[in-house]
Amino acid sequence: MFRFIRPVLNDFIDLLFPQLCLGCNKSLEFSEKVLCTACRLNLPETAQHHEPYDQNLLNKFAGKVPIQFLVSYLYFNKGGIVQKLIHGIKYKGFKEAAKEIASWYGNQLKVESTLVEGIDVIIGVPLHKSRFRQRGYNQADWIADGLAESLGIPFRTDVLIRQQFMASQTHKNRLERWENVKTVFAVSNRNAIKGKHVLVVDDVLTTGATLEACAHELLSAGCVAVSVLTLATAGR
Ligand SMILES: [Zn+2]
Repeated sequence: MFRFIRPVLNDFIDLLFPQLCLGCNKSLEFSEKVLCTACRLNLPETAQHHEPYDQNLLNKFAGKVPIQFLVSYLYFNKGGIVQKLIHGIKYKGFKEAAKEIASWYGNQLKVESTLVEGIDVIIGVPLHKSRFRQRGYNQADWIADGLAESLGIPFRTDVLIRQQFMASQTHKNRLERWENVKTVFAVSNRNAIKGKHVLVVDDVLTTGATLEACAHELLSAGCVAVSVLTLATAGR
């Protein structure tokens, strides 16, 4: 009986998780998820949760929006494992992988840090509707869900909406980028965040402009504190 079920089951698992390591393409063992053990041990972890008030990090947001804490799990190195991971979860449909990786960090935070204790609700940076339709999922939501589940904190998708498409940020300076994104987000459910500490989650921290805009809207709508967590950071 199992002989017939097994291939179907394997196909099903294939849909949820890649069967090859996203870092080195080696076949994964049954006990391994997303990355083989060697790649997982080689993940460039930032350990920023031990030093979350590092001024260099908060300077990204300085003078614009007060952020309670800002941490990233991994360093994004071009051509490295983390770039492959991000590519996989953004463009190859490996949304379950996003959730799994986020839960690694969530479990680590739970044991190693008191940072997340005051968080009331976790949300992902929303995608615009048309981008969501195109991709079929929002990777930030899957990361947020993985964190929420491992930390035992509520996760919501009805708090923020993205109102319009951003023009490409690449050739804009810092102020122009801020102007470009600050009107993009709107709070769609004030009751869900009023008086609460909200953790906003995204895949990669680059300029911080998108996360600033989210934080700005959330604080204007009455939440008491905003913190930011990303799976990876482009800066060191
Ligand atoms: Zn590997």
